[in-house]
Amino acid sequence: MSNHHFFDSQLDPFKAQQLLHSLKIKPNKKLGQNFLVDKNIAAKLISVANLSKETDEILEVGPGLGCLTSLLVKNTKKVHAIELDKRLYRFLKDETSKNENLNLILGDVLKIEIPSHNKVVSNIPYTITGPLLSKLLFKSNAPEIYMIIEKALADRIMAQPNTEAFSRLSVSVKTFAKPTIIQKIQRKCFYPIPKIELTMIKLIPHGKIDEFFDLEENIKLFLNLLRGIFPYKNKDSVNALYLYLKKFEVSKADTLGLLKSSQKSKKIRAFDLNDFFMIAKEIESQGLLREN
Ligand code: SAH
Repeated sequence: MSNHHFFDSQLDPFKAQQLLHSLKIKPNKKLGQNFLVDKNIAAKLISVANLSKETDEILEVGPGLGCLTSLLVKNTKKVHAIELDKRLYRFLKDETSKNENLNLILGDVLKIEIPSHNKVVSNIPYTITGPLLSKLLFKSNAPEIYMIIEKALADRIMAQPNTEAFSRLSVSVKTFAKPTIIQKIQRKCFYPIPKIELTMIKLIPHGKIDEFFDLEENIKLFLNLLRGIFPYKNKDSVNALYLYLKKFEVSKADTLGLLKSSQKSKKIRAFDLNDFFMIAKEIESQGLLREN
C-alpha cells in the first residue's frame, strides 16, 4: 500500500521526480510522459473547462501522477481516467481508493471503448494527438475538449487557408468544432522538461453540422479525402483530386464533375472550409467509391 498521499498535494518538479523515483518509473518518451507540475496551469485548465459538480462527466486521457485528476474529482460529477502505464495505474488506484466519483481504467485510450462523457479535460500524451482527435472529436455528439497539446499542432489546427500551416488538421478540426487557443505554456511547467513547446487549447463542437455526418462511413470518407488530397495542397484542385481518386479508378471527367466552377481554378490550399465537405458529399452522392 502507498504511503505517499501525493494525490491531494500539488506536485512540483522536485516532488514529481522523487515520486517517480520511488515508483521506479523512468519517464517514457514514447508514452508522452511529461508530467504537469505547475499548479497555475492546472488551475487554469480546470477553470476554462467551466466545470459543474451536477452535470459534468469528464474523460481524462493519461492521468499520470494525477495532478489534474485530483482537481477534476473535486469539481465534477464523474471522472473517467484512462491510463496505459500499469505502474501509474496501480499508484493512482491506491491513492484514490476513497474517490467514489473516479472511474480509473487501465488501457489504451485508442483501443478501448470509452465511457460516455460530455467533456474531455487532459494534459494528453502528445504522441497520440492526431488519432485521439479522430476518436474523440470527429463524430456527431462530440464532447467539449480542453487540453494541452504540442504548439506546432495547435498552430496547424488554427491555420487559415492559403497559409503554410494550413493542413488537413485545420480542416478536420474546424469542420467539427471551434478551436480557441487559451495560452502558450512554458516548457518548465512539465517534468521532465519536454523538447517541444505546448499550448492549451479548447475545442467546442459545432453540434449538428450536416446530416451527411450522421453516418460514420461518411465521416471516414471525408477524413480519407483530406488525407488523400492534402499532400497535393499546392496543386490545382482538379489535379489534386484526380491524384487521389484515380486510385479508385475514378476518371478525370468524373473528377471534374465533382467540382463547382468556382472551385476548379483554385489550389487546394486556397479552398474554404466548406469546399472540402461539399466535395466529400458529392463523392458520396455520386457513389464514386462504392464499387471499389
Ligand atoms: N496528465 C498527466 C500525465 C501526462 S503524461 C499530467 O498532466 O501530469 C501522459 C500520460 O498519458 C502518461 O501517464 C502516459 O502513461 C499516458 N498514456 C500514454 N499513452 C496512452 C494511451 N494510449 N492511453 C492512455 N494513456 C496513455
